[in-house]
Amino acid sequence: MNRINLINVITRIENRYGLPVILNIIDKESLEIRPLDLDKGTGFCIKVTLGWRNIVAEFIPDNYSKNLISIMGLADEKQKLLFKIMLLSILHSGKEIEMIINNESFSPSRPDSWPSEWKSLYLKSVNYPVISERLSSIDLQNNVVDIACSILALLIPLLPLEETATGDETTIGLPEGALTRVEVNKYERSSLNREACIMVHGCKCAVCKLEFESFYGPIGRDFIHVHHILPVSTVGSGYIINPSTDLVPVCPNCHSMLHKRNPPYMVEELKSIIAKKS
Ligand SMILES: [Zn+2]
Ligand SMILES: [Zn+2]
Repeated sequence: MNRINLINVITRIENRYGLPVILNIIDKESLEIRPLDLDKGTGFCIKVTLGWRNIVAEFIPDNYSKNLISIMGLADEKQKLLFKIMLLSILHSGKEIEMIINNESFSPSRPDSWPSEWKSLYLKSVNYPVISERLSSIDLQNNVVDIACSILALLIPLLPLEETATGDETTIGLPEGALTRVEVNKYERSSLNREACIMVHGCKCAVCKLEFESFYGPIGRDFIHVHHILPVSTVGSGYIINPSTDLVPVCPNCHSMLHKRNPPYMVEELKSIIAKKS
């Protein structure tokens, strides 16, 4: 793992989830990623290991993370829905996910079958074939970010993040008193919805099909706008956004055209406007 650029990996994970992390290289085959805001001992780390023809990420709780784990077991419907959406897109990308709760294997895709009292949790994501000796350092970095994010994408919906609205921005932290000095702050639920939308639909404009990375090269990687099909103002505050049906990735040009009318044009409408014109 000595070949990877730490800053690059940290920045990409932080940009994706708004979650500050630290990264330690353990040895040639493995590294560890920890949320910066969780105290060592009561939090967790994600261990990434290059194996024989595969790459693996594991959720490793700290020795005294009992509180954190039991709170994750109490996830509500909204959290479980987001978990499921994340899971489906991870499975769709070809990875294998293993979930062990209280030393027993559970289907991650059936949150209704999980026990409600969690004493221990183990999560593993495997991607293969990944042949480490053939990877350039850029490819290795991409693989590390990708596999680490697959575990983070599953964990974040289960973390007890509390939304506190401050003006336009939504900051999220763990409920006060639930855990001593364990806090994940400045986390935006909206960035999680955005990420879920991209995981489901990809980074391609739903209208004109432009993909920034294929057009602009590496600087275009991960770039896209996310449009709310239903304007935020027309849905109530208690509305649960479903990132796979309520959000859609669009390029900035098509995004502006969708908003040429209020309420905005639907994706299919804009597509037929473009088709009619030619
Ligand atoms: Zn477009
Ligand atoms: Zn929009």
